[in-house]
Amino acid sequence: MIEDGPGIRTNVFLKGCPLRCKWCSNPFGLSRKPQIAYNQRKCVLCGACVAACPENACTIEGGRVQTDREKCTACGACAEVCLTHARVLVGEEYTAEEVIQRVREDSAFYRRDGGGLTLSGGEVLMQPEAAEEILRVARASMIHTAIETSAYASWERLERLLPLCDLVFVDLKHIDPQAHLRLTGVPNKRILDNIRRLWTYAAEKGSPEVVLRLPVIYGLNDDDDTMKATARFIAGLPGTVAVNILPYHKLGITKYEMIDLPYPLDPDEDGDPARLTAYCDVIRRTAPGASCSVGGGEIDYCRVRAPNEEVLADHH
Ligand code: SF4
Ligand code: SF4
Repeated sequence: MIEDGPGIRTNVFLKGCPLRCKWCSNPFGLSRKPQIAYNQRKCVLCGACVAACPENACTIEGGRVQTDREKCTACGACAEVCLTHARVLVGEEYTAEEVIQRVREDSAFYRRDGGGLTLSGGEVLMQPEAAEEILRVARASMIHTAIETSAYASWERLERLLPLCDLVFVDLKHIDPQAHLRLTGVPNKRILDNIRRLWTYAAEKGSPEVVLRLPVIYGLNDDDDTMKATARFIAGLPGTVAVNILPYHKLGITKYEMIDLPYPLDPDEDGDPARLTAYCDVIRRTAPGASCSVGGGEIDYCRVRAPNEEVLADHH
C-alpha cells in the first residue's frame, strides 16, 4: 500500500480508537471488540447463517440478513458457514508472535523493494503493549517498521514505541480546538503537544522519520483560516517537516453499512481537488522548511532507514 510507507507493506490493524472522526474511512477499527460484518451484495439468502447462529441473532427480513447486535456475541459461526463470504468476522485475537509469523511470510517482498510492516488501526496507542511487542519482534527480524497514529495518548505511551519505529505517520485533523472536538469527539491539545514533542525527539535523535498527515475534508477543515493556522503550527516545528495532504474519499461507506452504522457525512458530497494544492501552497509559503505532498504516492521515502542498515535502495 503506497500510503502507509515505502515499498510493499503488510498492514496490521489494531482494533479500537478513542476518536470518532466524521470522515473515518475504516469504521471496522472503531470498536475494540470483534464484530460481524455483512455485505448484502454478496448474500444469496441461503439461510445457512440463520441456522448456524447459536444466539438466534440472524433473521432474513426485507431481502437481507438482519443481525441483532444485542444478541450477537461475535462467535463467528455464521461467517464460517457463509460460502459467499457475505458474512465475515472483523477482528481476531493474535499473539505478537503470530502476527509476526504472518508478517515474515511476506518478508521476501520487503527485501526486494524496501517494504515492511505498518501498524495501523483503529489507534495503535490503544493497545500499547501489543504494539510494542510486535514492533520489537519485527525489529529483531530486521523488518522495516512504521506506525500510523492520531497521537491521542500520553506522551510516555507514544515515546515508548519511537525507538522501535523507522517511520511514524501522525495525523492532525483540525488545528482549532473547538472544531477538533466537534469533528472527532476529542480535544486536540494533547495531540498538538505530542506532535511538537515527536518532532523534537526525531530532530534530536535523528530517528524515526516522521510524516505529518493532514486529512482534508470538504467544508470541515479546508477553509483559508484553518490552512493558515495549520501552516503556522508547522512552521513552528523543529527540523524539516514532511507534510502529506490526504484527500477525502468515500471508500469506507460500504464498511459502515456492513456493521450497521450510519455514514456520518453526506455521501453525495465530494472534495474540491483545487483546495489540496492551495493547501500545499499555503504551507510552502508559511513554512519554507516543510516539504508538502498530496496523497501517499508522492511521499519521498528515499531517506527512510531500515534498522541497522544504510539508506534503503532507491525503490522509486
Ligand atoms: S450464509 Fe451468507 S449467503 Fe447465506 S444467507 Fe447468510 S449471509 Fe447470505
Ligand atoms: S457471530 Fe455468532 S452470534 Fe453473531 S450472528 Fe454470527 S453466529 Fe450469531
